[in-house]
Amino acid sequence: MADQFDVVVIGGGPGGYAAALYGAAAGLSICLIEYDKVGGTCLHRGCIPAKELLESAHVFRTVARAGDFGVETTSPTMQLATTMERKQRVVDALWKGLEGVLKGRKVTTIAGTGRYRGGGTVEIELNDGSSQTVEGRSVILASGSVPRTIPGFDVDGRFVLTSDEVLELDALPRTAAVIGAGAIGCEFASFLADVGVQVTLLEGLPKILPGADADVANVVLRSFKKRGIDVRTGVRITGHEPGESTTRVQMEGSEPLEVDTVVVSVGRRPLSESLGLDGTGVEVDERGFVKVDQTCRTSVPGVWAVGDLIATPALAHIGFAEAIVAIKDILGESPVPVDYGRVPWAIYCHPEVAFAGHSEESAREAGYDVVVSKHQYRGNGRAMIVGDPEGLVKVIAAKTDDGRAGQVLGVHMVGPWVTEQLGQAYLAVNWEATVDEVAHYIQPHPTLSELFGETVMALTGRALHG
Ligand code: FAD
Repeated sequence: MADQFDVVVIGGGPGGYAAALYGAAAGLSICLIEYDKVGGTCLHRGCIPAKELLESAHVFRTVARAGDFGVETTSPTMQLATTMERKQRVVDALWKGLEGVLKGRKVTTIAGTGRYRGGGTVEIELNDGSSQTVEGRSVILASGSVPRTIPGFDVDGRFVLTSDEVLELDALPRTAAVIGAGAIGCEFASFLADVGVQVTLLEGLPKILPGADADVANVVLRSFKKRGIDVRTGVRITGHEPGESTTRVQMEGSEPLEVDTVVVSVGRRPLSESLGLDGTGVEVDERGFVKVDQTCRTSVPGVWAVGDLIATPALAHIGFAEAIVAIKDILGESPVPVDYGRVPWAIYCHPEVAFAGHSEESAREAGYDVVVSKHQYRGNGRAMIVGDPEGLVKVIAAKTDDGRAGQVLGVHMVGPWVTEQLGQAYLAVNWEATVDEVAHYIQPHPTLSELFGETVMALTGRALHG
């Protein structure tokens, strides 16, 4: 007889392991099926290794200007092998920690490929070649995503790379074209440029970092250009022609671009095909995303889907949030659905970008009459102390009937450690707080977060410093 569980989860990335941990914490018996390593893309090929490399670039930049602080050093050089070893140590330590927590919560983790077979049945092709069937009262699908490519750019690990290959580089190219200026593309362009690679960033849309407020994206654009990144927007790439040691990227209306390496960073596609869903009744859209309602229920009762497998923002913390929604729904706790228009975004290029809620453009498009306030980090004491005053905070508020600033609709930030400062802005947006309510609260001095307080306070009509 098949082993029985309250919940069977297929896929051990952030969506799947969060469902396992949260469900186990609530007393459910859980079976988690993963054919590779628990932690998924985020821990092994995404958030953690990418941010680790960006941190090395941060250290490199800091050491390069240590003389400004009166700290004499020789000019830094990048030892990529050591950087990669450190990255792997961080990943492995977190991976072991995660395995330990899963074990501690008594989650049954099975190494194999899970295929959903209808009802509560999941067949597993075990990594050792044998097979096993498990039964769940509920099933959660969390098989995640893989990098997307574009026609004419087959990934060969030499001329054409995706994020998977960049994170395993054993030597830096001299020149690189990064295709796609979304979050991941901008992070890789920033890292590569900081460690001495000559980077061209190619984007089909008119602006980099779609989703971020235009004022914020412009600060990143200026910084990239100042650091020698050739940013080209509105380009249409048609293919590439490999030569002996370089390849020529072809674009409509301009000369081919000769580079050592192309990094294709055009998003990710859901990995629904690994789940064997044909004929099970679980509906999948034409792009491969599993269709769900607002509590992550699929078209089959008793089956939920979370994370990159569904058409919601492809972020690890969204996977966590959806896993919690699914488990609460399984427990009959009527969960509050994720409000996808107000989730936190954090992008770790230099300068960093973080935002929640409407940009000025999207608020106007949504029909709001808005009042905005912008303050620059160059007026902030802590930013001057750390020597990183590039950037701004922008708060977008709804205009009240009497023309004042009312509810905080969005906060968009760019500058030093903004990914760590977004928390209170995120709360303000999601709590639907007004600028008067937020301005009441004290910011410690001297901190980078004072700039958020100043920006909000200015909207009350009485700024302190700015
Ligand atoms: P995944 O993490 O893809 O995990 C799915 C797991 O399921 C995998 O381990 C896979 O092996 C397993 N699997 C698939 N099919 C089966 C099957 N049939 N049986 C068993 N196992 C199966 N997000 C952020 O929030 N912040 C960031 O800074 C960030 N940076 C990123 C940087 C890069 C370079 C990349 C590529 C992504 C980044 N992301 C970031 C996105 C984040 O990694 C994903 O949103 C997140 O990993 C999605 O989680 P998931 O559980 O849905 O899927």
